[in-house]
Amino acid sequence: MLFSIFGSYGMQLMSGISPLFITKETPVILVADDDKSTRMLLRDAMEKEGYRVVEVSDGKQCLDVYASVKPDLVLLDAVMPIMDGFTCCKQLSKISSNFGNSTLANPVIESSLNTSAISLLWNSTPILMITGLDDPESVDRAFEAGATDYVTKPIHWAVLRQRVRRLLQQAQLYKQFEAATHALHELANIDGLTGVANRRRFDHYLNIKWLNLAQEQLPLSLILCDIDYFKLYNDKYGHPAGDVCLQKVAAVLNRLAQRNEDLVARYGGEEFAVIMPNTHAAGAVHVAASIQAGVRELQMDHSESEVSHYLTLSLGVATTLPSFEASSKTLVVAADKALYQAKAEGRNRIILKQLNC
Ligand SMILES: [Mg+2]
Repeated sequence: MLFSIFGSYGMQLMSGISPLFITKETPVILVADDDKSTRMLLRDAMEKEGYRVVEVSDGKQCLDVYASVKPDLVLLDAVMPIMDGFTCCKQLSKISSNFGNSTLANPVIESSLNTSAISLLWNSTPILMITGLDDPESVDRAFEAGATDYVTKPIHWAVLRQRVRRLLQQAQLYKQFEAATHALHELANIDGLTGVANRRRFDHYLNIKWLNLAQEQLPLSLILCDIDYFKLYNDKYGHPAGDVCLQKVAAVLNRLAQRNEDLVARYGGEEFAVIMPNTHAAGAVHVAASIQAGVRELQMDHSESEVSHYLTLSLGVATTLPSFEASSKTLVVAADKALYQAKAEGRNRIILKQLNC
């Protein structure tokens, strides 16, 4: 599919009608060459194409400015003093792979390893090596060092222009592909109505945290909360008002229960959950109390409620020390029981169940 997109862009380019780039920003080309006159010629050629150019005269300088310049493409001379193009190219590849690793280590997107792996492939800025060394070994060396493509000196300007255009277009398309993948990932994990995590994300996150904390021997808490008499609320005020109610409650949860690794999720119809890794019972109850107060302070009329004039929540809190012998279901069952008890004892209250801790 991507290649057909490339194809259509190629055709548009040849017709000379289409704008060169998908984004409005001017592409930045980082030119590294020790020869001043070559640099001037490269700058001239690239600026004529509408790019912005930053010049450096050796590989070390190239590395030094890379992070701040954030180029869209690097034109890298192979033979330079201080640090040659091959070494510089290797270092640049390392920078992108380190970036990839840190992305993988990010707990926020740990459920999207596949997405990250795809991103990893395309994160690196294209590097076009310019080499006077037209022997097969140097070409191999350039690709081994991580170059995306190469051209030889003396520079054939028409060829260089086309290669630069093609690499920039590819990089742009990969970025769009990443953005689309990210959007799909969001859709798959976010509850459409309230914007908090959905049940799928909840299950996945709870399992991951269960295993992590079993390893670390640290507690895990879970809050399950349910809007009191929500069916009556819907019957009285209508489903659109019910939807707004869910959104407001979700916003309260988001505001009050999103510390560090906490995850707020819509667990079911009018039920929400907060996963609280590395949190003792006292901390979880404290957060549950602030959620309860936060919803009460919304002062949303609920004339059908038997416990208050306003909308209220019942909350079940469970805390445990995860182990490899048990599963995260035990925590969900405990929180569910606590919630049931809160309902049974008259609603608008918090009940805590502590398991083996
Ligand atoms: Mg040189």
